[in-house]
Amino acid sequence: MQHRGEFSVTVAKDYLVFASAHFITFAGHRCEGLHGHNYRTRVTLEGALVDETWFVFDFVELKHLMRELCDEIDHKVLLPLENPKIQVVEEGDAVTVAYEGKPRYRFPRSDCALLPVPNTTVEMLAELLTARLRAKLETMGARGLTAIEMEVEENFGQSAVYREKLG
Ligand SMILES: [Zn+2]
Repeated sequence: MQHRGEFSVTVAKDYLVFASAHFITFAGHRCEGLHGHNYRTRVTLEGALVDETWFVFDFVELKHLMRELCDEIDHKVLLPLENPKIQVVEEGDAVTVAYEGKPRYRFPRSDCALLPVPNTTVEMLAELLTARLRAKLETMGARGLTAIEMEVEENFGQSAVYREKLG
């Protein structure tokens, strides 16, 4: 059978969520206070059909991979490590956070997710989850995939989408 079009698979399950605290910085000297969101994720994998199965990727495996990624940051304070205005320092079992040099927060280390991003916007979270998913797919030896599209929603109807071509 000839396939004229292109295929993709998408998962957006109620359990692909993470409830986390964060704050972001804006241009200039404005910085949000700490608050939380029930973040929701949706991912699409584009690619060729796999021999013998005629699917792009196994839904069960994709849900499992996404669940792992959400669990890593669920119930954590999301802290950016690459924001020039925010200083995040690990001190034993604690993490201290300063904004423009002024101490602001101190959290138990185990309650924090220190993330290699410049700001914990949904755009940056979507890109980070894509990078982490891509690494897992590469470790598994997944083949034939051409793109990942990741959506992270922080409120109903308010989300960012990141799309990355593979290969
Ligand atoms: Zn927020």
